[in-house]
Amino acid sequence: MLQSHLFSQTRREAPAGETSKNAILLYRAGFIHKTMAGVMSYTPLGLKVLQKISGIVRQEMNALPHVQEVLLPALHPRELWEESGRWAEAIGDVMYTVAEETAALGPTHEEVMTDLVRAHLHSYKQLPVALYQIQTKFRKELRAKSGLLRGREFLMKDLYSFHLSEEDFDNFYGQVSDAYLRIYNRCGLDALLTKASGGMFAKFSDEFQVIAEAGEDTIYLRADGREARNQEIVEDASSAELGEYCGGEVKTASAIEVGNIFRLGKKFSEPMHAVVQTEDGGEQALWMGCYGIGISRVMGTVVEVYGDVEKGAMVWPKEIAPFAVHLIDLTQDKQGVAVYEALKASGVEVLFDDREASTGAKMADADLLGIPTRIIIGKRSLEQGGAEVIDRSTGESKIVALTDLTKTV
Ligand code: ATP
Ligand code: MG
Repeated sequence: MLQSHLFSQTRREAPAGETSKNAILLYRAGFIHKTMAGVMSYTPLGLKVLQKISGIVRQEMNALPHVQEVLLPALHPRELWEESGRWAEAIGDVMYTVAEETAALGPTHEEVMTDLVRAHLHSYKQLPVALYQIQTKFRKELRAKSGLLRGREFLMKDLYSFHLSEEDFDNFYGQVSDAYLRIYNRCGLDALLTKASGGMFAKFSDEFQVIAEAGEDTIYLRADGREARNQEIVEDASSAELGEYCGGEVKTASAIEVGNIFRLGKKFSEPMHAVVQTEDGGEQALWMGCYGIGISRVMGTVVEVYGDVEKGAMVWPKEIAPFAVHLIDLTQDKQGVAVYEALKASGVEVLFDDREASTGAKMADADLLGIPTRIIIGKRSLEQGGAEVIDRSTGESKIVALTDLTKTV
């Protein structure tokens, strides 16, 4: 894509009233626009990143046994939430109602998903069933803040699974947990599996936490650093229960919750009558689990980890970068054009800075946009034999002949 055609513009100033790193850098780079408190618009650049994260999530979800994608409504009928017994609690807490409280904007989709599944499930032979969606959630967050980290409207991947036996559920739960770690890894995040309170469903749930200053949660780290506990359960639990987390040398850190998976048991299937006929002709309510990833929060978290407000710089992890290559042409006679065409023809996602702007302005914009590989063609690089190719995450740079560039990247 030609940078002169890019819809969004970079800015020098931080957005009014925003202090978080992700809000400042994403606003300055032109990835997001704050429509109102806790509600963001994504520009074409921001949407590219969201779509890449969603793409990774889809790949890893579709690779799991039995998992398929669906799309459920954002507007939920009151009756379903009354059936599960959550209407009163949810409207008092997180849920925005509309149309004189005959419906509400979905903060989560257990009810709507259970309703879909019970309409199609009859026999135990159809099990297990696992359906997910990537969709907008709405929650009355009292403290909508920190850019993409806590919105009143945000993008979530939510998966729900339905099983005949608890063993089958347990086995699937473990596979989802492993898939989550792969997803975060591919997004450039080092997520720690963290025991946390089960919320409304079970004693413990499993969170995925990324250590970052901006994190609202405090986690206790085990000595090997690979597992953690959320402070909320460390404070509540007996020391016997938590063993090594309470005694000896325990480290704590601020962390961002980028995902959460729950055992639901029969919490929804019983009141909502999601049942199947068993082999012996009886009837059984389903074992259920739910598994969420905050797609937009992941995007914000990546900026918290890889961004630098003082330098006005960001470097996107390769798999979720809006473009793979930022080609910057500093020559008078536009030698970059042929390189751009060649890169595009070989399928490289390239942003070509074709603008008439100073070298300093081009470099400052490139630092903000955060594209991981930068190619500069200028008088100096040409004298050395070609273009300068910079890996922005390591800072390594080398000169590559113009004809070899496609092969190199
Ligand atoms: P939190 O503890 O941060 O309030 P939660 O436990 O209520 O989140 P879940 O209902 O488990 O969140 O939702 C699954 C995931 O969705 C979370 O792990 C998080 O990544 C993301 N998420 C939750 N609330 C928000 C929000 N207000 N804005 C952005 N992402 C969110
Ligand atoms: Mg949570």
